Amino acid sequence: LFAGSEREGTDRVRIRGRRVRHLREVFGAAPGHALPVGEIGGRLGRGTLLSLDGAEALLKVTLERDPPPRLPLVLVLALPRPKMLRRLLRAVAEFGVSELILVNSERVEKSFWQSELLSDQALHDYLLAGAEQARDTRLPAVALRRRFRPFAEDELPALCRGRRALVAHPGAAKPCPASPAGPLLIAIGPEAGFNDFEIGLLQAAGCTPVSLGTRTLRAETALVAALGRLGAPAE
Ligand code: SAM
Repeated sequence: LFAGSEREGTDRVRIRGRRVRHLREVFGAAPGHALPVGEIGGRLGRGTLLSLDGAEALLKVTLERDPPPRLPLVLVLALPRPKMLRRLLRAVAEFGVSELILVNSERVEKSFWQSELLSDQALHDYLLAGAEQARDTRLPAVALRRRFRPFAEDELPALCRGRRALVAHPGAAKPCPASPAGPLLIAIGPEAGFNDFEIGLLQAAGCTPVSLGTRTLRAETALVAALGRLGAPAE
């Protein structure tokens, strides 16, 4: 995927740096080669490599199709440890989630908030890798909420309104729905789970607790299971 700023005129794109190395070493690309391309936030198509040297590449591009539809879902995710966050950012973009809100919880280790993965650039890079994997051009919007209670009391009720709002909670009586129509929101807890007070706040804001089965899953597994279920095409 290329950014609009890399475009030159109507059909030329000049890219530089790390991605040029990737083109050469991973794709084994050489002038004349055709590649799948897309403009971040825009359309998808094909590119033909016109030139490639150590530092930059020039492509002729034709953009002819829209990216796949998004999953109209707000994901409220208790901030995971950095190693897990890296994988989850990719997965969230692969599923086409429209908005990701990383929240604090009593059981989130405070040091996780120091992670360099939370810089705008790192978030962008990992989401971009997921979007590219899924042949999508649009990245989820990301917000960070370092205080759970003000988020849950002041912001979450409005987000839940007009959406089917859920919190994944081991032991919940209701199962997580499959392929529900319309806008969604789901909250996923930290490794040690949301505490009872936090679950109470989530419910007060409008989130219904739902189960993903009788097994307690890692937050990472729960996230993929929930998005797979909520985002599955209707039969
Ligand atoms: N002991 C914690 C508890 O009971 O909440 C376990 C937390 S689990 C490792 C991490 C997160 O993944 C949970 O907060 C929940 O959001 C989600 N999760 C894991 N297994 C689940 C299940 N079977 N049903 C629903 N949510 C689940």
